[in-house]
Amino acid sequence: MKITVVGYWGAYPEKNEAATGYLLQGEGYNILVDCGSGVLSKVQNYIDLTEIDAVILSHYHGDHFGDINCFQYQVGYTRSIGKRTNTLDIYGHNLSSEFNKLTYAGGTIGKKIDENTTLKFEELKVSFKWSNHPVPCLAMRFEENGKVFAYSGDTEWSNNIIEIAKNADVFICECNLFNDQFGKAKGHLTAGEVGKIAQKSNVKKLVLTHFPHYGDLNQLVKEAQEEFEGEIIKADGGLVFEL
Ligand SMILES: [Zn+2]
Ligand SMILES: [Zn+2]
Repeated sequence: MKITVVGYWGAYPEKNEAATGYLLQGEGYNILVDCGSGVLSKVQNYIDLTEIDAVILSHYHGDHFGDINCFQYQVGYTRSIGKRTNTLDIYGHNLSSEFNKLTYAGGTIGKKIDENTTLKFEELKVSFKWSNHPVPCLAMRFEENGKVFAYSGDTEWSNNIIEIAKNADVFICECNLFNDQFGKAKGHLTAGEVGKIAQKSNVKKLVLTHFPHYGDLNQLVKEAQEEFEGEIIKADGGLVFEL
């Protein structure tokens, strides 16, 4: 399983960068996990769009699915000129009317996921838990050959996140807030909380992501480090993790 960080900003992309998106590749699959603003352009540094088999969406905020509509156009376009033969499966929960738009012009097929879903892509198993966010959002756990990659989606403190990340080799966790914002901002985790979750989950490698557009991001690492004994990495475009 190879994970490439495509975009890692919360809310909107910084100049020439992307909001949230991760490319997950392995034997027989190429999956885009979230497709926020800027991701459709950036991901082409790592793969031809026609080779992506599936997109899995955590939720319907623009920093996580803003580029889906253009991806649908791209699929329709490349199918019409014979450059793409297969359809694109787009997985998302159906607790939003946005779900109905995931199926588009015969080129993309919306498929419902929730806590009871297990997806299989060859040897890869994907399971989900609801996070704690102002809109329904799914955290994800990817398992293959005994290795585990977990992704928080957007979330406040939640025991479900501790469970989804249990013993993960790599845990990519949103880290949108500094510790001094604790209790002041809703919907997201402070760096200290992220560290605590990683510690409780016995995570091996913690990757901080979904950054704010202010402050010193190295401070987030320091604050998480106070709570977590393992390795911490700050997400960056093009960063690769192989499990
Ligand atoms: Zn977000
Ligand atoms: Zn969100």
